[in-house]
Amino acid sequence: MAEGPLVHHYAKRLKQVLQGKEVRIEFRLRNLKALTPAFQEIRIQRVEAHGKQFRIHLPDERVLLIHLMMWGSWGFYRKDEPWDKPIERARVIFHTNSHTAVVFSAPVVKLLTRLELQNDPKWGNLGPDPLRSDFSSKEFFHRLEQDPSREIGEVLLDQQVIAGVGNILRIEILFKSRIHPRRRVGSLSKKDKEELLRWMLKLFERWMKQIGRRSDWIQIYRSSGKPCPHCNHLIEFFRQAGRITYACRYCQH
Ligand SMILES: [Zn+2]
Repeated sequence: MAEGPLVHHYAKRLKQVLQGKEVRIEFRLRNLKALTPAFQEIRIQRVEAHGKQFRIHLPDERVLLIHLMMWGSWGFYRKDEPWDKPIERARVIFHTNSHTAVVFSAPVVKLLTRLELQNDPKWGNLGPDPLRSDFSSKEFFHRLEQDPSREIGEVLLDQQVIAGVGNILRIEILFKSRIHPRRRVGSLSKKDKEELLRWMLKLFERWMKQIGRRSDWIQIYRSSGKPCPHCNHLIEFFRQAGRITYACRYCQH
C-alpha cells in the first residue's frame, strides 16, 4: 500500500530517470490515449511527491497527477530490459533514451494545469507532508484544529490536514502516541499533540529507512485478537472512516 514513504521512495527513482529528460509519453488509459501523439518529445521539468501523489511537471504549466491508491506501482527498466508485469496493466509509459518508467494499475492519472490542481477540491490544497522540505508543524496543527469535533483517527486520513498518512501509519502513530483513535481533536492536550507530531515524524522516517526490509515499527496493524505488545490485553478493531482501525483500549486513551 502506497503511503507517503513509499511514494517518496518511488519519486526519488523517478526523478533520476525522468527529471530534466526529454521523454516520449505513452498513455494507455482510454480517456487519455488520444493525447499520446502530442507527447512525443516532452521535457520533464520536475518530479515531486506530495503525500501520496506524484506530480510530474510538464511544460506549459501542466501537471500529470498520479495516485497509486491500493494497487498501483511503478516499474523502472533499462531500455530493452523485459518487464516483470504485463503490459495490459500499464497506465502510462515514459520512454527516455536509456530507460522506461511505467506506472502499473494506478486508478488515478490526471492531466491538469497547475492552477486547476491547486484549486481541485479533491486533489488540491494538500496538507503539509512530513517528508518534504517545506513541512511545517505549525501548518499541521492549524489544519488539525480546524474542526475540534472530528475523531483523531479519521482526521489523520484527511490528506488536506496531513499528507501521506494512510491506514498503517495512522494506526501505529496513534498507538505510539497512546491516543485512542476515537478521541475528538478538541479533547487533545498540547502534550498529546506534540507526542502525535513526534511519532508521526519518527515513523515516516523509520518506514523510509526500512523500505524493502522487515518493518519492525509496525506493532498493532492487523493484530486484532492478538495481545498488545505493551499490556497483553487483546487488540481491538473497528471501522472508522471506512477503514479497519486497530487499537489497545488500555494503552490508548
Ligand atoms: Zn495495551
